[in-house]
Amino acid sequence: MTTTLVTNIATLVTNDPAAGEGPLGLVQDAAVVMDGDTVAWAGPAAHAPAADTAYDAAGRAVVPGFVDSHSHLVFAGDRTAEFNARMSGRAYSAGGIRTTVAATRAATDAELEANLTRYLDEALRQGTTTFETKSGYGLTVEDEARALRIAARHTDEVTYLGAHVVSPDYADDPAAYVALVTGEMLDACAPYARWVDVFCEKGAFDGDQARAVLTAGKAKGLTPRVHANQLSYGPGVRLAVELDAASADHCTHLTPDDVDALASGNTVATLLPGAEFSTRAEWPDARRLLDAGVTVALSTDCNPGSSFTSSMAFCIALAVRDMGMTPDEALWSATAGGAAALRRTDIGRIAPGARADLALLDAPSHVHLAYRPGVPLVSAVWRRGVQVVS
Ligand SMILES: [Zn+2]
Repeated sequence: MTTTLVTNIATLVTNDPAAGEGPLGLVQDAAVVMDGDTVAWAGPAAHAPAADTAYDAAGRAVVPGFVDSHSHLVFAGDRTAEFNARMSGRAYSAGGIRTTVAATRAATDAELEANLTRYLDEALRQGTTTFETKSGYGLTVEDEARALRIAARHTDEVTYLGAHVVSPDYADDPAAYVALVTGEMLDACAPYARWVDVFCEKGAFDGDQARAVLTAGKAKGLTPRVHANQLSYGPGVRLAVELDAASADHCTHLTPDDVDALASGNTVATLLPGAEFSTRAEWPDARRLLDAGVTVALSTDCNPGSSFTSSMAFCIALAVRDMGMTPDEALWSATAGGAAALRRTDIGRIAPGARADLALLDAPSHVHLAYRPGVPLVSAVWRRGVQVVS
């Protein structure tokens, strides 16, 4: 196994409070040693052990690779016109998903995989070393299963979202669609998925339907995550906590009871500011959640309809500017928070034993991710100890 020393790091974010200052475990004038695909050592450069090869970070910052715990990247088609219309004054509704469903069903496997790969490469160049992605644009047994089969070739974090919207084929009989999602479709999809998800929202699935979907998924060994309280108040967040979902995603419209439930449970609140940006909607209140003691993750929600960004740095900037997060909190939520939302301890931190996923910023500290919005600061990326962006 080859060891690599990354040294002359101005600011290192470890997310290991034992290793440095504050919750981010910040170390100034730092170094990291990678042994194969794993972090072997992190700390002050003056104390770094010897390694086979060395990389000079030249006074720049190193952060854990971003963990994007919510995306929808198995799709085809384009919704530029819908975005353009919306930015000209039309309100967003969940129905736009059906446009992507039609295009996705018509695409070949090769076209879907090429599209997925393109956006994964785009995300990797921006420092995302772990991503979750979902089905949800097929809405037939075969189309949902193939989306997950394709996704599973590229990540372990695959989510079955047959319950994205009621299939247009079942517009007159939503109950029959829920029966399909919890029956034959689940059987076909479960072998490729780790997670089960549902869009619990007016116009999508109500609380009882969402409970049926998540419960059936759990019985098949999948762990729940929920699209909850995005467009309106509703039962999604409390259902997520009750069913011990790993994450309640969006959390834009929360009652005090919803916040209390999140604070008392094991469910991470994953905030997706790209969606509010791209739909000109009200921001989720990250400050309120953090002050209540809720674990908060940030993610892109990258999808062609409501949030077509793969940039975690952009989400960090929005969270700091408009959602009340400090730059430190936003960085934590985009790395360790995303790992928590995926119930992973091997990613989202730079500490001995963790996966060697690092992003080098062309800046002296992680604060620049919010301070310099829209600037492509990620200048090198290591994934599993291999430099994949330089
Ligand atoms: Zn989503």
